Amino acid sequence: MKAIFEGNPDVKELEELFHSDDKCLEFLAEIKWEHGFICRKCGNTNHCPGKAPHSRRCTKCKTEESPTSGTIFHNCKFPIHKAFYIAYNVCKGKEDVSTYEFARRLSLRQMTCWNFKTKIQNALRAMDSLSENEKTSIQKFFQ
Ligand SMILES: [Zn+2]
Repeated sequence: MKAIFEGNPDVKELEELFHSDDKCLEFLAEIKWEHGFICRKCGNTNHCPGKAPHSRRCTKCKTEESPTSGTIFHNCKFPIHKAFYIAYNVCKGKEDVSTYEFARRLSLRQMTCWNFKTKIQNALRAMDSLSENEKTSIQKFFQ
């Protein structure tokens, strides 16, 4: 899964990712906990599955962390697979897709697409001021 945005992504894998929220969360979780789980609150490294899909819960302080927290996908108001589609096209796409075209392809409002596209572009510009997780997720898109 991790290799999806590295090198030449497999079209089939991308398609899967662009149609499934679950796959997107799995993808983010793999990047986030690539080097294992560390609780952000207490530093404990043991976890059990959280309530939300692909989230993890600290066995000590019970803090739950979602794969999206600390990434540009956190609190996204529309399905995350659509956000992935926009992010991928903005970061790696060969064509400059307009926000009207994104809106048409994804059945979203143009303003929604414009807001998210702008968020990604700003994030790319401000890479240095991002948290490690955000950086990682963006770099993965960029490679
Ligand atoms: Zn903890």
